[in-house]
Amino acid sequence: MTRGRLRLSSGAGWRSWSGTVRCAPRHHTAPTSEEQIADLVRAAVGHGLGIRPVGTGHSFNSLATTDGLLLDLRRYAGIVEIDPEAMCVTVRAGTRIGDLAASLHRAGLALPNIGTLADQTVAGAISTGNHGTGLLHPPLSGEVLRLRLVTADGRTLALDRDSDPELFRCARTGLGALGVVSTVTLRCVPAFNLRVRERAMAFEELVEDFGRLVADADRPSFTWRPWQDTVTARELSVTHEPPTPGAYGNRYAATMQEIRCGLVGQAGRVFPSAVPGLTRWLDGRPGAPRPFVDAAHRVLTFPQPVRFIALEHALPLEHVPAALRELRGVLRRGGFYSPYSLLVRVGAGDDAPLSPAYGRRTGYVNLTVPRTAGQLELLRTTEYVLRELDARPHWGKAHTATAELLAPRYPEWDLFQRIRQQVDPAGVFTNDHVARVLGPVRATAASSARLPGEQAGSRTRGEASW
Ligand SMILES: Cc1cc2nc3c(=O)[nH]c(=O)nc-3n(C[C@H](O)[C@H](O)[C@H](O)COP(=O)(O)OP(=O)(O)OC[C@H]3O[C@@H](n4cnc5c(N)ncnc54)[C@H](O)[C@@H]3O)c2cc1C
Repeated sequence: MTRGRLRLSSGAGWRSWSGTVRCAPRHHTAPTSEEQIADLVRAAVGHGLGIRPVGTGHSFNSLATTDGLLLDLRRYAGIVEIDPEAMCVTVRAGTRIGDLAASLHRAGLALPNIGTLADQTVAGAISTGNHGTGLLHPPLSGEVLRLRLVTADGRTLALDRDSDPELFRCARTGLGALGVVSTVTLRCVPAFNLRVRERAMAFEELVEDFGRLVADADRPSFTWRPWQDTVTARELSVTHEPPTPGAYGNRYAATMQEIRCGLVGQAGRVFPSAVPGLTRWLDGRPGAPRPFVDAAHRVLTFPQPVRFIALEHALPLEHVPAALRELRGVLRRGGFYSPYSLLVRVGAGDDAPLSPAYGRRTGYVNLTVPRTAGQLELLRTTEYVLRELDARPHWGKAHTATAELLAPRYPEWDLFQRIRQQVDPAGVFTNDHVARVLGPVRATAASSARLPGEQAGSRTRGEASW
């Protein structure tokens, strides 16, 4: 290496958590300091290599892949500072959400809200718009107070709402396209416990009463298999009660459910029509589990060992009932059977220009399927239904949207593109997937956004392959 101070390591193959995305980077390196990150960026640029930062690879698409330098942030982890006075925590980019939440709990603090996955990194989560549920809660990117960003010229920028408000907002959900996030400061709240209640309800009750159900609940979520008529409603509410004895074991109920779904998914490869019967049999006796109380982070996340593929779209909240009705009709008519439930969550709006929750209260519809080719049709059909309802795909999940389709759905799209051009004019952080979803650097509007090498009109409008 001539232009940086570190030697670039030799490449090693990389694959995502789901196992469905792979790449062979020329260099795969795990820096342990911010200085190393900056040196590696400078070195890669000097060698004319593309760069992609990566966390734990829990995204279901090729966002993080590269044939240049893969900057693996997992060893740049840990808490820099917990500030109980200011109620915030500063962490290194590769810190896992679960580790952070457990450390905060010991310090009497908590993140206001998190998704279901403890294993992902903080930077990977904010960069893709990761969210939990609850109309009072924005995605995690909405809780970012400050961050440090290493840009293509090797500089490290300290960003917050005052220092460079536009770059700060863009970098909060930047898809790794603006540079490498090195540290993040997140808002905290006092540690809290959640009471968990589940009940079965009719599908019609969910769609008729959706607005009231999600407004009345602190953190509601709904799971429903489109070929069934009942929905499971799960409500989490803040309580001062102590954890229920033995509550810890309840974390594994969801894990066991995913293991059952994985097993049925395997059987469904050979006998697709057996999925409903097998699912009912493995679900066991109907009846909601008893309510319990536990620490928030133990309730919100659970171990997820079974590999699958997921699609999730963020809709205007009021479109959720129409989406569910339409999906029920289309998926039933198509004879699609997945053992996994569709998951419906909600969230507050966000002001990061590429946040899927940008500027609106949001309903999130998530579809999980086994990793079998036969399930792609189910993903595709679901995506088409949601797309018609002004949906924005989760940046980290499976989808086929291109910049042409996405640009009109993000009111501050052009701001993001202008900032992108300023901080990475040569497109060092743009891989093929980023070019597909954001267009090439310098494209400021949907009109010029095409896949590299693609001729105008050569693809269906706004669509690429999976
Ligand atoms: C089992 C499972 C459960 C999930 N549950 C939820 C959920 O409840 N809610 C939800 O919203 N999503 C959920 N997801 C999606 C997941 O949150 C996102 O895909 C998230 O990006 C994963 O974080 P990661 O560390 O694995 O990131 P990666 O997949 O490694 O990277 C994702 C993106 O972030 C960028 N990135 C990573 N590190 C940096 C950095 N330091 N600087 C700049 N960019 C960076 C990468 O370049 C890439 O573009 C789930 C995924 C799985 C597999």
